[in-house]
Amino acid sequence: MQYQSFLIKYAEIGTKGKNRYIFEDALMHQIREHLKKVEGDFAVQKEQGRIYVNAKSDYDYDEVVEALGKVFGVTGICPMLQIDKCEYDELREKVLEFVQKEHPEQKFTFKVRAKRADKHYPVNSDVINADVGYDILNSYPESSVDVHHPDFIVYIEIRQRINVFTKVIPGAGGMPIGTNGKAMLLLSGGIDSPVAGYMIAKRGVMIEAVYFHAPPYTSERAKQKVIDLAKQVASYSGAIRLHIVNFTDIQLYIYEQCPHDELTIIMRRYMMRIAERLANANDCIGLITGESIGQVASQTMFSLRTTDEVCELPVYRPVIGFDKQEIVDVAEKIGTFETSILPYEDCCTIFVAKHPVTKPNLNVIQRSERHLAEKIDELIETAVNTEEVVICE
Ligand code: ATP
Ligand code: MG
Repeated sequence: MQYQSFLIKYAEIGTKGKNRYIFEDALMHQIREHLKKVEGDFAVQKEQGRIYVNAKSDYDYDEVVEALGKVFGVTGICPMLQIDKCEYDELREKVLEFVQKEHPEQKFTFKVRAKRADKHYPVNSDVINADVGYDILNSYPESSVDVHHPDFIVYIEIRQRINVFTKVIPGAGGMPIGTNGKAMLLLSGGIDSPVAGYMIAKRGVMIEAVYFHAPPYTSERAKQKVIDLAKQVASYSGAIRLHIVNFTDIQLYIYEQCPHDELTIIMRRYMMRIAERLANANDCIGLITGESIGQVASQTMFSLRTTDEVCELPVYRPVIGFDKQEIVDVAEKIGTFETSILPYEDCCTIFVAKHPVTKPNLNVIQRSERHLAEKIDELIETAVNTEEVVICE
């Protein structure tokens, strides 16, 4: 069954007072962007605090629902019958016909919830509820009304036109992209950072990303894996500009000059410094990482404090309090998990010491970094100037 229209439900953004239209416009823009990826012609319209997607051509239902399901800000997608105002008897017939198409099964429980926003319509909600309920029971003698836990609800909304629907498909939630600035995600090939990027994007933040690549220690396939992950996150957040920075010489220099048990922490500090520089150059007002307290030596509170010290921008770590399994659950839900567990090497694991410090002392780390004074600025300059930018969408 091809539905002509979808009613798009959104919650949080409905509460923003005078700014409401900004959020609604951003949401409509995002819906249009996501629908560009599917075949078909659609009109996205706003009417009295409601957003509708109207199909202007044939389309694939599953594809459209999947695309709409990835738009942040949408809480529910209701495939519906939308009809012009008509005589009451005709409305009852049309509603019954719709229910028959939607629910070919013979036995179910249901309830009818009519809402008469247009008080000029001659029949009130209670009467509609009773009459339509009666029609459905007549047509499905094995079915019954259950007002508390029905299998489905028949919604009938009398507005400028009349909306009828029985399905509310859950949306991605969150806030529409473009309503909350831009941040730079440190994206590795692991499980955690794509989830972190998804979570911040879900709050309406546009994402840009940086990946530190260390050829030949990390392969082209490891880089491709990060590009694939960025594309998967981009299927929700919209296109991501991924900066690929060659980190090899910096890493080797740190390896030569600094105590090996401090390598990870010093490497992380340089990643943060470069990420912040790229962030500032690209209008990003925050950094995002996939760190979680205590997961590894470089993520104890002591280590996090030491990495934070090098940046001025706020660092957002949305999975900071998550257990690994909780992060995995999100990764599975958003479809990044399978890619993240592909076994390609990661630049941190190659240079990592057997016994990294877990309680780095800031003064000690700063003293070790002084051994890098001679060449580090030049190496950073080269790394930034030779970056490769890939648009992932
Ligand atoms: P992930 O699963 O995200 O790789 P992880 O548990 O492997 O995380 P670390 O390797 O300690 O943790 O990295 C912590 C965070 O630092 C990552 O979540 C990511 O944000 C960032 N990061 C680590 N390595 C890189 C890299 N090569 N390029 C960009 N960011 C990185
Ligand atoms: Mg990692």
